[in-house]
Amino acid sequence: MNSNEIEIHKELKKYFGFSQFKGLQEQVITSILGKTNTFVIMPTGGGKSLCYQLPALIQDGTAIVVSPLIALMKNQVDAIRSLSSENGIAHVLNSSLTKTEIAQVKKDISSGLTKLLYVAPESLTKEEYVAFLQSVPISFVAIDEAHCISEWGHDFRPEYRNLRTIIKQLGKVPIIGLTATATPKVQEDILKNLDMSDANTFKASFNRPNLYYEVRTKTKSIESDIIRFIKQHKGKSGIIYCLSRKKVESIAEVLQVNGISAVPYHAGLDAKTRAKHQDMFLMEDVDVVVATIAFGMGIDKPDVRFVIHHDIPKSLESYYQETGRAGRDGGEGHCLAYYSYKDVEKLEKFMSGKPVAEQEIGFALLQEVVAYAETSMSRRKFLLHYFGEEFDSETGEGADMDDNVRNPKNKIEAKEQVVKLLEIVRDTKHIYKSKEIVFTLIGRINAVIKAHKTDTQSYFGSGSDHDEKYWMALLRQVLVTGYLSKDIETYGVIKITQEGLDFIKKPVSFMMSEDHEYTEADDETIVT
Ligand code: ADP
Repeated sequence: MNSNEIEIHKELKKYFGFSQFKGLQEQVITSILGKTNTFVIMPTGGGKSLCYQLPALIQDGTAIVVSPLIALMKNQVDAIRSLSSENGIAHVLNSSLTKTEIAQVKKDISSGLTKLLYVAPESLTKEEYVAFLQSVPISFVAIDEAHCISEWGHDFRPEYRNLRTIIKQLGKVPIIGLTATATPKVQEDILKNLDMSDANTFKASFNRPNLYYEVRTKTKSIESDIIRFIKQHKGKSGIIYCLSRKKVESIAEVLQVNGISAVPYHAGLDAKTRAKHQDMFLMEDVDVVVATIAFGMGIDKPDVRFVIHHDIPKSLESYYQETGRAGRDGGEGHCLAYYSYKDVEKLEKFMSGKPVAEQEIGFALLQEVVAYAETSMSRRKFLLHYFGEEFDSETGEGADMDDNVRNPKNKIEAKEQVVKLLEIVRDTKHIYKSKEIVFTLIGRINAVIKAHKTDTQSYFGSGSDHDEKYWMALLRQVLVTGYLSKDIETYGVIKITQEGLDFIKKPVSFMMSEDHEYTEADDETIVT
């Protein structure tokens, strides 16, 4: 170790009591101390906070931490204060402070006492605050939950879009972006929006080998299925996510009458009840919390043993984030999702009232969830591919931890079909999304195909010996293998890659498994 390394290890021990860095923390911290823009992508629980807290504590000046959630900021400030004898070491600056409190915050910053200043993005737009922050030394600006900057993320917040302009007004300060979920598209958006394409990027693996992924058909007997599942996990902690408040209430009630200790949690409950139910779950007074997505941000319960999705989520990012709350201690974590196409249609209908661009993004994200649910390939491979990570489904860590791998479907040779599919993508010249490509293969006409006169081409219908479902399944598997790629910017236009062109020239065996069939569905309405 050189003297700098010894130094930061000493500081780690001094402030946090840890003797070792976790994952990429040390590299990230070195990058921040080097005053370079830094981009950190680490799954929840990866130890992101320490990446900026430690450099903030040991550098001159105040670090500004932008975070979207007041409750989270408060928790962090309390945690930092507990490391020091000085309360002023960390502050939150927001609109709920009194004049006297604001004066105290400013005094502590000016005197150099405050090392971490947490602000919500909207507070940072206040001219008065910006003017003050211009007058004091700032060590860096950390932007937590940086995916909020992208419309392609699962939690877009328009106020994040102004951050770059405001930071520029503070002079030349390094920016640290941090997020726990980012597909390649979202990563690109973050770097572009923060104008930091030069950033040192650190990406930890998103693989959670201890999580078991499973999808079940959503049938009318879903409630008894869930009860059976919970009884098999007797005494263990779990979360059940539902899309609507109404469903949350009714499921919690059904569980209670069946002798399961469960509480509901959603934004429609008053703050006191919400806090009470959350505490009951954390303190293990109840086993199960039935919740909308309002529950979970910042919940650090290490031994959540299962996360059930009663309804499918709106995106795979949300799914990853929500299931990520299971098994944080490295122990068992069963992630079970119920799926029916009717739910997808309901979500689509729900989105149809939104502005067109938002709708297109929403549909494209939802299609990925559908593909995840319907696929019979390794779910882990599918998920990780979505986050831009290659996973070896034979030898990778946690490779056998999903229903598809444990109960594989029969695989069939599809070499010739892959060639056919690739040729059609090549010959239609990258204008189509999956639907039109599959229609072209099976010879079905729609308005888009007619407009491009694809129905007059010799290859139109060349794959009619297989049905739509077969081709859709094959297309998804070929996408994950990398012979095709999906252009997210154009909401899902499919393109052929160099590997795909090579495959056409020299095809090799391609074993595919057909997608799952899902039929029966529950009937309910979504009220979020
Ligand atoms: P994230 O923000 O990425 O979800 P956190 O910053 O909340 O993760 O950290 C997750 C947990 O890991 C916390 O309980 C934290 O105290 C712990 N942790 C962070 N860094 C270390 C370390 N170097 N050694 C041991 N535990 C750590």
